[in-house]
Amino acid sequence: MKKLIIVGGGHAHVEVLRQFALEKPRAVEITLVSPDRHTPYSGMLPGLVAGHYTFEQSHIDLQPLAAWAGARLILQQAGALDAARRVVTLADGSELGYDILSIDVGSVPLAQDVPGVADHAIPVKPVRGFLAAWAQLQAQVRAGAVRGIAVVGGGAAGVEMLLAMQYRLAQLNPPLVPAFALVTDTPQVLPQHARGVRSVLERRLAQCGVTVHRALRVSRVMADALIGRTTDGQEQRVAADAVLWVTGAAPPAWLADSGLALNDKKFININNNLQSSSNDSVFAAGDCATIAGANYPKSGVYAVRQGPVLAHNLRCALAGGSALLDYTPQKKALALISTGERHAIASWGAIAFHGDWVWRWKDHIDRAFMAKYRGA
Ligand SMILES: Cc1cc2nc3c(=O)[nH]c(=O)nc-3n(C[C@H](O)[C@H](O)[C@H](O)COP(=O)(O)OP(=O)(O)OC[C@H]3O[C@@H](n4cnc5c(N)ncnc54)[C@H](O)[C@@H]3O)c2cc1C
Repeated sequence: MKKLIIVGGGHAHVEVLRQFALEKPRAVEITLVSPDRHTPYSGMLPGLVAGHYTFEQSHIDLQPLAAWAGARLILQQAGALDAARRVVTLADGSELGYDILSIDVGSVPLAQDVPGVADHAIPVKPVRGFLAAWAQLQAQVRAGAVRGIAVVGGGAAGVEMLLAMQYRLAQLNPPLVPAFALVTDTPQVLPQHARGVRSVLERRLAQCGVTVHRALRVSRVMADALIGRTTDGQEQRVAADAVLWVTGAAPPAWLADSGLALNDKKFININNNLQSSSNDSVFAAGDCATIAGANYPKSGVYAVRQGPVLAHNLRCALAGGSALLDYTPQKKALALISTGERHAIASWGAIAFHGDWVWRWKDHIDRAFMAKYRGA
């Protein structure tokens, strides 16, 4: 009996589990390790915050999915990996040996070592921690205790989260409406998107009364403000009783001591077969891994597309075969960016368009995606 350990219930792994449920690999003992029974679907996270979706609608329940795939689910975090010994150590210190290991544990927000972030900011990931802090923040806003909220990160995720939070808080009719600020160290918001997308979102932020601080790098976070430094070295203070940290993707710290080959940013180095470039028995997908030489963003759509290739390659490696499939990242991906209310902007290379119908289109795509993992 071969042992397969699947670490993390990320976007690629849910597809692996679904494919294994549809056709079970023979003579394989499968173990799924995840700290959470419910894994969030990032596309619906802003909608959950805005109040358009419930927790259940925006999360995949790993328990029935694992059972359907014939996998044992261990509700723990993997804390360490010794790739040379082929052993994963869980948070409680117990060890699991494997023949084949697959890692899809996502990423964490960048630059959390900025002074004060650990004490005063709310990182958007892990999502479980963010949702607990968001519930607390809503209660504080209801009590009229929050004057200002700053979101750090001017990418699509930061802008979507800001607009979703603002929309939701307005529904609560608080005695004091918090002022919102968006802080980004880039000269403009959404630098990776076309001008048309940026101008629609800039207009929306202005309509919503959001103060946008561009080219401001946060150097300190305090209980009631953050301090940033402009490109010419000036210090600027932004008042905020709550700071949401939605910076780019950084790798989970525990990968550093795994013995796996990592790239310069400490993500797992993989080849086009989604296999570790240093250890044949290890596969990795999603945000935590990067294909050497390929240039594609850390985004859920890539993790989703890796799922079927990963499922095939794990099956093949377990059977001792060598007919692994190549994964080629798509050159550009459609991004559907929601703006708080049931309205969204589509961004496809240089093309941009928006409307309520774009939100309904996104809603349809997202619900269809989730339905695939409720087949158990
Ligand atoms: C607000 C927001 C909105 C976004 N919207 C979009 C969008 O619309 N479209 C898009 O393409 N991308 C979007 N993204 C980006 C997207 O979230 C990531 O690119 C995507 O989640 C990566 O998928 P993944 O499979 O690598 O990891 P994840 O989806 O993050 O899943 C990782 C899983 O691993 C688990 N895990 C973590 N550490 C461990 C451990 N040590 N042991 C075991 N399990 C572990 C986690 O609990 C989690 O369930 C958004 C991001 C944010 C923050």
